[in-house]
Amino acid sequence: MLIDAYHRIHDYLRISLTDKCNLKCSYCDPVDSEIESSTQSQFMTVDEIDHLAGIFIGEGVKKIRLTGGEPLVRKDAKEIIRRLSKYKVELALSTNAILIDQFLDTLQSAGIRSINVSLDSLQKEKFAQITGRDYFDKVKSNIDLLLENRFHVKVNVVVIKNVNHEEILDFIRWTEDVPVHIRFIEFMPFSGNHWDHEKVFTHREILDLIQKEFSVQRIPTDPHDTAKPYYISGHRGTFAVISTMSEPFCQGCNRIRLTADGKLKNCLFSKGETDLLTALRKGEDVLPLIKYCIAVKNERLGGQFSSLAEAIPNADMIDNRSMIKIGG
Ligand code: SAM
Repeated sequence: MLIDAYHRIHDYLRISLTDKCNLKCSYCDPVDSEIESSTQSQFMTVDEIDHLAGIFIGEGVKKIRLTGGEPLVRKDAKEIIRRLSKYKVELALSTNAILIDQFLDTLQSAGIRSINVSLDSLQKEKFAQITGRDYFDKVKSNIDLLLENRFHVKVNVVVIKNVNHEEILDFIRWTEDVPVHIRFIEFMPFSGNHWDHEKVFTHREILDLIQKEFSVQRIPTDPHDTAKPYYISGHRGTFAVISTMSEPFCQGCNRIRLTADGKLKNCLFSKGETDLLTALRKGEDVLPLIKYCIAVKNERLGGQFSSLAEAIPNADMIDNRSMIKIGG
């Protein structure tokens, strides 16, 4: 088992398949970033992903989420999904849904039933402004397609003050007749993403806004859940808030992240990473490296900051990759 110094068991692995994406959201993939995309040979191959996944599963990992960049832009994404579906783990996917219509059969055959889709605006023009691309209609129709095919769809909305916070109630109204599960995510700081604490719209602010119009009830959760879920009586969907900045949930953390270039991160905010791919390619045993990476995990927020969003004035104080290079 992968247990850290704070007795946290790590049984949820997120694997990034690529740092490339067909959207260009500035909070995730900074335009002025000096960081270059990795080349194909720097990425783990299908065999390497399969091999490493097997090692983690042998150490007690029960859930694997494929992410990126956009995982579905990788040419061999179908093969990776097929290969990982042989393991007795819950396989999940985070996607912007642009290519979902080309993957329905693969996802169904792999037994994937729950999909996280990013969508920060319900307005076509605002979507284009945030993502730098004109794919709103495609994303909306692919969400409909997932729902028609009875997938459990969670919609991730990164809430940024004065960018899309005015749309929170529109997202809530969407849950009235449609069984979508909205997850409002507090805006987080990463290298080059122009984060500052005044742009964070907190869990408390989100709830206050919703409660002005709706009566909401908390849904009980598992200690590992990052999202604080709520329901509104009569609505087919639900909503939740991921309060990383205002109310971090590190004490129940069970997550580890493998970047597309084969580096293990023990926290989204960790400065350090452990290079599994180079060791694997040299024929070395990677298990001691995995155990070391978990053993040195900080108690909270990668050891980079301690509490509230107000404690750090801007993203330059954070030493990390951009989100697109980590795998969200
Ligand atoms: N392309 C896939 C997708 O769209 O879900 C997977 C990768 S994306 C990096 C995963 C999630 O991270 C998305 O929901 C995205 O909105 C979120 N994300 C990226 N940067 C973020 C930030 N600075 N703060 C909060 N969430 C962020």
